[in-house]
Amino acid sequence: RFAYVNGAYVPHEHASVHIEDRGFQFADSVYEVIYLYKGKLIDAEAHLKRLEHSLNELDMDMPKSRAAFMVTIKELVRRNRVKTALIYVQVTRGSAVRDFSYPENTMPSVVMTARRVAPFDANVPLKGIKVMSLPDIRWARCDIKTTSLLAASMSKQKAQDNGFDDAWLVTDDQFVTEGTSNNAWILREDGRLQTRKPSHEILNGITRQAIIKLAGQKGIEILEDAFSLDEAKKAKEAFVTSSSACVKPVIQIDDTTIADGKPGLFTQQIAKIYADFLEE
Ligand code: PLP
Repeated sequence: RFAYVNGAYVPHEHASVHIEDRGFQFADSVYEVIYLYKGKLIDAEAHLKRLEHSLNELDMDMPKSRAAFMVTIKELVRRNRVKTALIYVQVTRGSAVRDFSYPENTMPSVVMTARRVAPFDANVPLKGIKVMSLPDIRWARCDIKTTSLLAASMSKQKAQDNGFDDAWLVTDDQFVTEGTSNNAWILREDGRLQTRKPSHEILNGITRQAIIKLAGQKGIEILEDAFSLDEAKKAKEAFVTSSSACVKPVIQIDDTTIADGKPGLFTQQIAKIYADFLEE
C-alpha cells in the first residue's frame, strides 16, 4: 500500500508528517473522502470544490489546482491497484512554531491514502443501523470539513457503548442536525423525503446533493428543512448518506423502531437509484 505525502508516494507504514504540523496540533486542516467505485471517482469535482470551500474558510488557498489533485489521486489509485476504495485527501496549514494565530508562509501538507472497500450493492437487502440521539456538541462551523472530529468521535463511541451503531446529533431545541459522519434523512408520513437544508450546522454532503438531484428526477418530492427528533421517531423510514456508506437504512432511533425495525422499501429504492448512478 502506498500513501501520498507532499509530492511523494511512500509505503503506507512509513508515511508521516512532522510533529509541529498544525494539523496534528490544532486540527488546522481539512479533508475529503472520495469514493472510487469500480474504477470511477464519484463526484470528485464536487469534493474538490468543497475542499476549496473548507480551505478558503480557513484563509488557505488550494495548494494546487483541482486538475493537479485529480492527477495525484489517479496516480495513487494506480499505484495501489484498487478498483473500489475510499480516497482520503487531507490538507493542513503545514508546520510552524506552535502559536494559535496563523503562521505566515507555511508549506501546506498534502496527504492522501486509498483504502480498498467492498463495492456498494443495492441488489442485496441493506443492513439497517440503530442510532442513538445525542446532543450536538460540535462547533458552529460544521460546513467546514475539518479534521477536528473529536466531538463526532466521542458521540459515535458513546452510541456504540450503549449498543447502537451511530449517533444522530440533536440541537438544544431537539432538531436533528446529522449523523457523526453522514447526513440524516426521513421519509415523512406525507410521503415526502426530508433532510436538513445546508447551513453552518451541517456538512452539505456530496451524496446528499446527488440524492436530492436523482430523487428529484424520479419525481420524489423533497423537503429541505430541519426535522425534530420526535418527527424522526414517527417517520415511516429513515436513512443516512455519505460517500463511504452511500445509503444506509436506520431501523431504530433510541428506543423507537422505525419501519418495523427492518430496512424500508423506500430506502431500498433510494439505494437502488444511487447504485444505478454509481454504475452509470
Ligand atoms: N456529515 C458529516 C459530519 C460527515 O462527516 C460526512 C462525511 O464524512 C457527511 C455528512 C456526508 O458527506 P459526503 O456525502 O460528502 O460524504
